[in-house]
Amino acid sequence: MASTTGQVRSTDDETSATGTVHDSSSRDTSASDSSPNGVSHGEPLLLDDPAPEGAAPEGLEVSGGPTIQTYDPRTGQVLAIVPDQSADEVRAAVARARAAASPWAALTYKERARHLLAVRDRLLDSAEELVEVICAETGKQRAEAVTTELMAVCETIDWYAKHGDRILRPQHVGSGTMAHKSAWKRYEPLGVVGVISPWNYPFTLSMTPVVTALFAGNTVVLKPSEVTPTVGLAIGRLFVDDTWGDLVQVVTGGGATGEALVRSGVDKVCFTGSVRTGKRVMAAAADTLTPVLLELGGKDPLIVCDDADVATAVKGAVWGSMQNSGQTCMSVERAYVHADVYDRFVSLVLAEVAAIRQDDSGSGDIGSMTFGPQVDIVEAHLADAVAKGATVLAGGVRAERPGWWFPPTVVVDVDHTMDLMTEETFGPVLPIMKVDSVDEAVRLANDSPYGLNSSVWTEDPDLGEQVANRLQAGNVCINDCIVSYAVTGLPFGGVKSSGMGRVHGAEGLREMSNVKSVLGRRVKVPRELWWFPVPKHLDRIAIATMRARFGTGIRTKLGRAGRP
Ligand code: NAD
Repeated sequence: MASTTGQVRSTDDETSATGTVHDSSSRDTSASDSSPNGVSHGEPLLLDDPAPEGAAPEGLEVSGGPTIQTYDPRTGQVLAIVPDQSADEVRAAVARARAAASPWAALTYKERARHLLAVRDRLLDSAEELVEVICAETGKQRAEAVTTELMAVCETIDWYAKHGDRILRPQHVGSGTMAHKSAWKRYEPLGVVGVISPWNYPFTLSMTPVVTALFAGNTVVLKPSEVTPTVGLAIGRLFVDDTWGDLVQVVTGGGATGEALVRSGVDKVCFTGSVRTGKRVMAAAADTLTPVLLELGGKDPLIVCDDADVATAVKGAVWGSMQNSGQTCMSVERAYVHADVYDRFVSLVLAEVAAIRQDDSGSGDIGSMTFGPQVDIVEAHLADAVAKGATVLAGGVRAERPGWWFPPTVVVDVDHTMDLMTEETFGPVLPIMKVDSVDEAVRLANDSPYGLNSSVWTEDPDLGEQVANRLQAGNVCINDCIVSYAVTGLPFGGVKSSGMGRVHGAEGLREMSNVKSVLGRRVKVPRELWWFPVPKHLDRIAIATMRARFGTGIRTKLGRAGRP
């Protein structure tokens, strides 16, 4: 054992597909109050001598309550054991975060930014270590982890440190007819924000809402995915310091722990995950009218017009569908290619895919998939498509090796009767459909319950913008895909079933705030006209005022429209 503060004892309990060790022993909540960071049973138990694929480590368990095991997806071996925390422990974490909320909210924006820039420095100091933690639990390649996880978060912190003060500054608005009044809005912290995150980008998709909430003056309780909890615990360690130990609490556990957080009385829930769980989160939040921000799944379309630079579009399509082994909410999940360039597109895609280096070196192009059950979904979608007439031109069969490996896969002869073209596949698969026109491509792209990201490839900037305007999506890239997320100034989020609310940009910071409207006095008047007793001729005065202010022509202003 490398490190644990929990004791190890024997258990005969079973291991589930998600690695939860079911334990009938009662939950120990007493330790939670002594935790500096909400990890009541201590650090994750990292195994030096992992157990074989799918197996619990030989009768071991962290003492003090139920636990979760995580796996190294590159080998299928058990990687770590962390606490599966109870609703009581979640409430205790929320209470600690609430106690820290007022002093943190009382700081100026610049003071909070200074602290968060120090957190970013800690991130930079421990970059190599963080990359190892991320890769071990996700199967990513190192460069993927650095660029899409660490650098993306540095960008976000940088942008909010530079622009957030202006975004949250009180703003005056015109007071209309009541010219003697002064009107302004101010952005106030919500209090405690609950963040629930998924496994596909366990660092970015936890840190982005966490730091945004903190910039806005809130404190946070983070519940990372049960598939990647050690990344969540590493995030918690970034925030541990002498002054602000309780700003970010990390609670580990599965769905029940997440639901306990939704029901814990937090002031907002920021959830990133599947549509199915998002609906559950929203339903649970409805009981307490807790506001929710939902970043959900996608089925992102890519449209290749007949005038596109095909070679570039191919590079983008293959990268966009295969990077992170296709496990990106904004992965290119379906391509619609104009008939005039279709054959060339497909043959170049096959050459590009054949050259992808998929291995466990850490420095290849893509690694393993992250979550075993997701491989089953990929296989099911492919089987459904093939049964309905699709042709697999590359890949298509899971690799025969330990861990969760699926090769880059290209499928043609697809249509919208197939799950592969309508449901989120979340694997390294590119289905390509031939279309006769841009109109057909747009119609098919919009024929989806999802609307997260999308892309159009054309050399005509006007056409690109026209198509972008017609796509039902929260985000569109022209001649690129996915990377709009990396521009922190652009708000990111979905339409339709892909979610509600935005992260990033001014909108993302204001999502974490309560906008309070204030009406004050500009000029003191003896009394307001509408106060009691209502003046006898107020109706006539009001009509004359209305006409004078809102009439579009002099005749209307004078009340003479329609009169000779
Ligand atoms: P998931 O929905 O299975 O789990 C997400 C989180 O919710 C986990 O932490 C989980 O423990 C928690 N959870 C489960 N049941 C819960 C409940 N009843 N109440 C509260 N929390 C609960 O998603 P996943 O498999 O971890 O992630 C993959 C999904 O996330 C994909 O659909 C992907 O498209 C989506 N995603 C969306 C975005 C985005 O920004 N729109 C980004 C990344 C991933």
